[in-house]
Amino acid sequence: MNHDPTCIFCKIVAGKVPSRKVYEDDEVLVFHDVAPWAPVHLLVVPKAHIATMYDTDEAHTAMLGRMMALAPRLAREQGVVNGFRIIVNTGPDGGQEVQHVHMHVIGGPRPWSKG
Ligand code: 5GP
Ligand code: ZN
Repeated sequence: MNHDPTCIFCKIVAGKVPSRKVYEDDEVLVFHDVAPWAPVHLLVVPKAHIATMYDTDEAHTAMLGRMMALAPRLAREQGVVNGFRIIVNTGPDGGQEVQHVHMHVIGGPRPWSKG
């Protein structure tokens, strides 16, 4: 599995940096964002290092579908029952700060600090 030892999310996947994990399977890890915008703010990441959505192709379709299908289930498990946002920032103009694909799942009662 592709791994970048300098990447913060690869370090989280490898257990070298702690995180508050909520879900894990063979290809996906989900943990709480360290700087949440809302009562619940999860990050859904592939375990393999993929820098941006530009680096995905048809081979990633099932994994990306798995990530999206997890969102409503995990949101509900976190008590988010009145709606949430899914955001995948991509590239400089997309505001992507961490260069490892991640899906934000953000929800819970408003007001939120951002978004
Ligand atoms: P981006 O702007 O790249 O879409 O979002 C990156 C997200 O990763 C931000 O919301 C930021 O708070 C989160 N983040 C960055 N470093 C860490 C970390 O070490 N642990 C956790 N749990 N979240 C992080
Ligand atoms: Zn990575």
